[in-house]
Formats: sequence, structure tokens, C-alpha cells
Amino acid sequence: MRGHAIRAEPATTPRDEPLCSRCDAVCCRLTVVLMPEDRVPRHLVARNDHGVEVMARDEEGWCAAVDPLHMRCSIYEDRPVICRRFAMGAPYCLDIRATYREERRRGIPLTLY
Ligand code: SF4
Repeated sequence: MRGHAIRAEPATTPRDEPLCSRCDAVCCRLTVVLMPEDRVPRHLVARNDHGVEVMARDEEGWCAAVDPLHMRCSIYEDRPVICRRFAMGAPYCLDIRATYREERRRGIPLTLY
């Protein structure tokens, strides 16, 4: 009787393939505009220059809800609508990852949007 074949992971994967194990969480540095239905703790909310409520960010540009110790969202169950709609590996994700990689390669500080 033959056993199940175990498929080994490839030693390398395409550079632009999103993997949780090497995600730079660039999306958690983008501006997150809050919707009326969002229920985010008030200490994590800021207003931008136009008076719009957004997720607050720290001095390095990370969303204030990022748990820096574990590099994950500390309010995942209650994360904003925009975050819920962000699809890992979708065109927008791939685009901002590519821009981030290119800016790092060229030594350009990350631009916040
Ligand atoms: S609320 Fe959570 S998922 Fe949304 S940007 Fe902040 S850390 Fe990321």
C-alpha cells in the first residue's frame, strides 16, 4: 500500500506572492477612513486635515491598532469596514507591496497615503 505523498513547499516562491509569514503589513500603514458603522475604540481614532475620522497612526506610520509585539491587529474582530474589505493578494495589495519594495530598494522612505 502506498502512503500519501507529502508535497514539499518550494524552496523559493515568487517575490510578489503574498504570504502571511513575510507580510510587511503595508496595508496597516495606509489611511483607514472610518465608516459610521465602525465601532473602534475612541483612543484609536484621529481626525485628518479634512476633519474625517481615520484610524490613528503612530510616529512610524503604523495604525495605532497594530500590536507591535505580535505584528497583528489588536482589534481584529472589530476592525473597520475598510480593513475587512482589503483582500490579501488582490490587485491593490500587490500594487502597494510592489511600491513599498521598490521604495525600500531605492532607499526612499515609505510614503503614507
Ligand atoms: S485596524 Fe487592524 S487591520 Fe485595520 S489597519 Fe489597523 S491594524 Fe490593520
